[in-house]
Amino acid sequence: MKRRGIAVLGSTGSIGKTALRVLDRHSDRFRVVALTSNSNAALLAEQQSRFEPGYVGLVNGGVPGRPGWHGGAGCLVEAATRDDVDIVLNAIVGTAGLDATLAALRAGKRVALANKESLVMAGALAAAACADGGGEIVPVDSEHSAILQCIGARPSGDVRRVILTASGGPFRGWSAAQLASARLEDALKHPTWEMGRKITIDSATLVNKALEVIEAHFLFGLPYDCIDVVVHPQSIVHSFVEFVDGSVVAQMGLPSMELPVLYALTHPERAADQSGQPFDPISVSPMTFETVAHDRFPALRMGIDAGRQGGAAPAVYNAANEQAVALFLDGKTSFEDITRAIGSALDRLGNLAGATREELLFADASARRHVRELF
Ligand code: NAD
Ligand code: MG
Repeated sequence: MKRRGIAVLGSTGSIGKTALRVLDRHSDRFRVVALTSNSNAALLAEQQSRFEPGYVGLVNGGVPGRPGWHGGAGCLVEAATRDDVDIVLNAIVGTAGLDATLAALRAGKRVALANKESLVMAGALAAAACADGGGEIVPVDSEHSAILQCIGARPSGDVRRVILTASGGPFRGWSAAQLASARLEDALKHPTWEMGRKITIDSATLVNKALEVIEAHFLFGLPYDCIDVVVHPQSIVHSFVEFVDGSVVAQMGLPSMELPVLYALTHPERAADQSGQPFDPISVSPMTFETVAHDRFPALRMGIDAGRQGGAAPAVYNAANEQAVALFLDGKTSFEDITRAIGSALDRLGNLAGATREELLFADASARRHVRELF
């Protein structure tokens, strides 16, 4: 079997490291040909020694004088479009992943997409890039991987509705009064998933679920009325698909990103893999489901509304959140300031034009500036 060449963008992060574990186990099918990270040259150098990719990109910081190393923001697109790359695993966090996603799709690559922010911000541009260059997006996000696995080869017209599951995050049971004094260390304690800091905060505000609703809209071509969210604290059911005849299919598993990463690489095939614990229905019982507390977590509805509005609104939502989360992680703002900042940015900037990359980047920068000026 010809081994497929993989570029892992963001290889030093939570998903990037998970991906390298998976790729290590499946070296008969895949070879790592490019790695990039924002910083952490020491870990990147270790990864280079282990996987021997031809290309190593470090966006920030001094590039060591080792063979194959490249520096600067341009290295993401360079890594994503190399001839020896078949699949780009985009595990960059935030807007920084946008150009690599678009360039890879235009170059005809499969993008195994963890970087949901690029699709949220520029879903229409990503679709145009696929049409232009013949690339395809296969989701890494566990909910969307679940939906893809449930739909299988059936035509999209068979789908009536999808239901995304949400763990509810660390503040699921918290009252409004408690939320008002939520601390950073509370927000970073996710009950079921271990992830990077930004997405962990996004899970606490439920912004992550709004990003995922928008992501589902673009990935599966579903109207927003056909995408629901339910809270499922155990994170065993990764999502449901309801078909036109009323049948409901779910995909399940213990919470681990290894399967969604592997499946994004092998889809529509499966590769034998025995890393995880065997699934035991008794040990995951009981599984429970609850309605979303929209009154306590208003950022979810704001995001879905931004998705419905379209134009630059999803980009404004995403960028305002990214900036507000950065300020919260720096200890400069409160937890509730995140949602407040997003609402304020959408009120002010939600109607900006968002048809081109330049318009979207302008909206993104404006939203960040607006949030910085608020505090
Ligand atoms: P992380 O912070 O752990 O890692 C981010 C990676 O991106 C690092 O390698 C970092 O060097 C790189 N990076 C950061 N800023 C960059 C920049 N400006 N330019 C280039 N590279 C940059 O994040 P993560 O938790 O691995 O999440 C990555 C993406 O996957 C996010 O979009 C997140 O929403 C998504 N995702 C993560 C999980 C999870 O379990 N961690 C699950 C689903 C989706
Ligand atoms: Mg997810």
